[in-house]
Amino acid sequence: MKPLVDNILRLVQIPSISGDCTQIRRIVDLVKNELAPQGALIREFNFEGADPVLLLANCPGEQFDILTVGHLDVVPATQNLFVPRTENGRLYARGALDMKSSVAVNLAALAYAMDKNIRFGVLITTDEETSSNGIKALVKKQPIEARIVFDTDAGSLDTLCDKAKHPVTVKISAVGENAHSSRPWDGINAVTRLTDCLAELEKNFTRFEKGQTRPESIWVDTMVVTAFNSPTTYNMVPAQAEALVNFRLTEKISLPQLEQKLRETTRQFGCKYEILLCSRGVYMNADCPEIAAYREIAAQTVGRPLKISQMCGGTDARMFSDRSVIVMHSVNGENAHGDREYVELDSVEQLLEIEKKYIDAFIAGKI
Ligand SMILES: [Zn+2]
Repeated sequence: MKPLVDNILRLVQIPSISGDCTQIRRIVDLVKNELAPQGALIREFNFEGADPVLLLANCPGEQFDILTVGHLDVVPATQNLFVPRTENGRLYARGALDMKSSVAVNLAALAYAMDKNIRFGVLITTDEETSSNGIKALVKKQPIEARIVFDTDAGSLDTLCDKAKHPVTVKISAVGENAHSSRPWDGINAVTRLTDCLAELEKNFTRFEKGQTRPESIWVDTMVVTAFNSPTTYNMVPAQAEALVNFRLTEKISLPQLEQKLRETTRQFGCKYEILLCSRGVYMNADCPEIAAYREIAAQTVGRPLKISQMCGGTDARMFSDRSVIVMHSVNGENAHGDREYVELDSVEQLLEIEKKYIDAFIAGKI
């Protein structure tokens, strides 16, 4: 069996479900002790409140020409999905597609880059499917920099992603005044305040729903009310209400612009807002020299030009989006997070081929 496939098989047999410290430890140790290329420098970071982060590199220091970013935790699955099965060139297993195969590719690319004139690193997190606390702590506490980041957790072999939306989760709360609901003029209804506030905010977005008109392109700003809570009464004007709202922003709305809207609108309707979660967007230009070179190499390898698409979700690599060129490209497969998750083994070999050629082109000064 090819060493690359063999490594993938070893990785997918460990049920490294996000949050399971024992199995996460096992997979981290497997990488450190057995899968790391010979001579690679290995560093493990253990930040408070986060699962381990591994950095493997062919050079000391924190500055890289190319850094790959991936994760080895997976979402839960039934036990049989941790017993890999190969059929018609497909490998069925939890994590086969998302994303142990591409981590194995990145480790093989590091092996290829050993002793070559390029600063190459492989960053592996183990809590991407839940908190992403590992990468968040890392970028805060460890000054890792890279000119180019390979995000092999996005796109597919046929499709390169150039953009990923910026997720922002906000809590909006309203305070009113209780009264008997038979005498509404004596009270201030927090639910009404909140719904009015949400309706006003929603004027800046288009509302989508299954069965109605879909957006022409998924690259649109969206706002979704994901929760709405108020005291359960049937004859009282409620004095409290709160909602959670999830925004997914393109480059058309910046965080300060969103905050400006939130400030104005919540003030207008006597509400308050608090940002609970805020990550980053990735807004690359697929024609920038680094990505254009990658597309050319990939097209030669795959035999057809890559499609370009965008993502509504995001990955850990987004934490580098303010200072690195991020190449979001991966392997082919289906059913990530589903019962029939699989990866096409051909595409795994091809991704490695592309990464190797890109390393060569970089060393040759073509990038
Ligand atoms: Zn993933």
